[in-house]
Amino acid sequence: MSTIDGLPPLREVIAAHGLSAKKALGQNFLLDLNLTAKIARQAGDLSGFDVFEVGPGPGGLTRGLLAEGARRVLAVEKDARCLPALAEIAAAYPGRLEVINADALTVDLAEHLTPPIAVVANLPYNVGTELLVRWLTPPAWPPVWHSLTLMFQREVAERITARPGGKAYGRLAILAQWRCEARIVMTLPPEAFTPPPKVSSAVVHLRALPEPRYPADPAVLEKVVAMAFNQRRKMLRSALKGLDRDIEAHLVAAGIAPTERAEQVSLERFCALARSLAG
Ligand code: SAM
Repeated sequence: MSTIDGLPPLREVIAAHGLSAKKALGQNFLLDLNLTAKIARQAGDLSGFDVFEVGPGPGGLTRGLLAEGARRVLAVEKDARCLPALAEIAAAYPGRLEVINADALTVDLAEHLTPPIAVVANLPYNVGTELLVRWLTPPAWPPVWHSLTLMFQREVAERITARPGGKAYGRLAILAQWRCEARIVMTLPPEAFTPPPKVSSAVVHLRALPEPRYPADPAVLEKVVAMAFNQRRKMLRSALKGLDRDIEAHLVAAGIAPTERAEQVSLERFCALARSLAG
């Protein structure tokens, strides 16, 4: 069977290298190269980009990224068993794929890649949210990356892109949407993966905005939002009462009724509240 890049089909790669999936590493592999090329395309035209990929595994998405024209791919994989399979891909694309055997949580993008940088990954579910939060909270904005195109469990993807007024809306939505445009660009059923996970998945595309949508001090905003959603069923005047003696006045100044709950408050009004508290 011929493939997009002339390398063997992924089932053969997995068999040849004994890559039985390990649950502890969140290994749910994508074996359909047409699908991985489609996911790579969700990141936009990658021809001028350095791509950072977390968890290449047997390399299905990596091959999609290279076939779709990424300038260079840096792939960080924790499982050393995958390295020989990835070395075969590197040999087929001379000078374009570098693989690091490490925990992605310890790798600093800026140290290894040259902008513009796109992050593209089918994330291991156990560290996915932690990685996203790190990428969304760099020391300064705009971040070193241009966009993040990431596969999550669908429920997490819905929390990232949620609008006010529902259960999915919370800290993750505010953190993501304050300084990025975030949308779900694909949903995938469990059967798209080997082995299939228990739940559906979705690809989220986040594009960094040059500036936050509304001004606010990041630390103040984070504190307000964390407190507000930690007690999401309480009215804000009581959920936030530890923040300031005059919390009701600050809420009113931000256009928020003290009796509202966190779930009902837009990003714009949370930013106004953070400004009022900081001012
Ligand atoms: N990209 C491959 C694909 O789409 O078929 C594999 C995706 S699989 C969901 C997640 C991958 O991340 C696995 O290969 C796993 O070994 C790797 N992984 C898990 N934790 C990691 C970590 N902390 N740092 C780097 N890679 C990790």
